[in-house]
Amino acid sequence: MANKLSLKIITPSRNMFEGEVDMVIMRTMSGDVGILYGHQPMVTVLDYGVLTIKNDGEDKLAAVLGGFAEINAEGMSILTDAAEWSDEIDVLRAQRAKERAEARLRNTQANSDIRRAELALKRALVRLDLGANNKQAK
Ligand code: ATP
Repeated sequence: MANKLSLKIITPSRNMFEGEVDMVIMRTMSGDVGILYGHQPMVTVLDYGVLTIKNDGEDKLAAVLGGFAEINAEGMSILTDAAEWSDEIDVLRAQRAKERAEARLRNTQANSDIRRAELALKRALVRLDLGANNKQAK
């Protein structure tokens, strides 16, 4: 049997995941990257996106809103300010965040506000995408 990858996902509020998995697909700044056991050491910046953990034929999905991934001989660690499993996503909250961001984008003048609103909108869209899919799956 193929060796498994040790994975940890850490947020400011919890150790979200710790275990051995077959594969991780993460959203980096240059696109989705799949990581298997034995991947070369690296540190990469994460984009907002869906993280897929593949193990024993099952997929576990989480919204990961930025952060870093480090891969070394011990395994893979993801450090992020915010991450939610698909069934933890509050779809209504994300919908409201989306509407707030869209309203700010319509009204705002300052560049820094535009950037912040764009980022908030992008976080909300990732959550809505995953949260809505989760709803359908139930
Ligand atoms: P909001 O404006 O609704 O707070 P945000 O994008 O500014 O959204 P973040 O700063 O990314 O929120 O996250 C703050 C905390 O709230 C994190 O712990 C994150 O996991 C959680 N969180 C944010 N939005 C949701 C959501 N829709 N469902 C579940 N948890 C969420």
